[in-house]
Amino acid sequence: MKKLIVASNNAGKLKEIREILKDVYEVVPMGEAGFTDEIEENGATFFENAVIKAKTVSLALGADALADDSGLLAEALNGAPGIYSARFSGEHGNDAANRRKLLKELEGQENRKAKFVSVIALYKTNGEIVKGEGETCGRIAFKEEGTNGFGYDSLFISDDLGKSFGVATSEEKNSVSHRKRALIDLLRHL
Ligand code: IMP
Repeated sequence: MKKLIVASNNAGKLKEIREILKDVYEVVPMGEAGFTDEIEENGATFFENAVIKAKTVSLALGADALADDSGLLAEALNGAPGIYSARFSGEHGNDAANRRKLLKELEGQENRKAKFVSVIALYKTNGEIVKGEGETCGRIAFKEEGTNGFGYDSLFISDDLGKSFGVATSEEKNSVSHRKRALIDLLRHL
């Protein structure tokens, strides 16, 4: 099967991308492919950040690379944390602190509507960029529900599943997730 390098160190994301693409590609995390540098995500949009990650890794390794940039948008917070989802609490990748901060920001707030967005960029060695986008709607719970998944999953009650991604199995989450929808959109454009 054809190998595809994924520009991420996020174990939760990598696991999902591997599961979703299992019939199409053998997913190789960038670390295993020899890329261990930090990448500064200083784009203004999910797409810009996805391209920064995919392009950096592709140019360094001389191979096609795929990146997902994603986040949670809460309606009552005007779309925050958005592109800052991974560092909402200040420390990059501290999921527990990010969830605490989200609950605090929404304290006393009845409007719990939210959506996850994923934008995927595939950067090819010929310089071509292929994009995929997906989103999934739900609401923010008042307390954590379940321990499955990663990031904000235990606080996100999916409209499609009628339960939180924290209690959903990975198969259930992957059937309706923003990431699954973005990858399907990407495959349509290949
Ligand atoms: P990125 O690496 O900058 O794209 O960070 C995305 C961040 O958004 C993650 O660290 C999570 O906090 C959040 N996020 C994105 N997708 C998901 C998901 O599927 N479940 C839970 N949190 C997610």
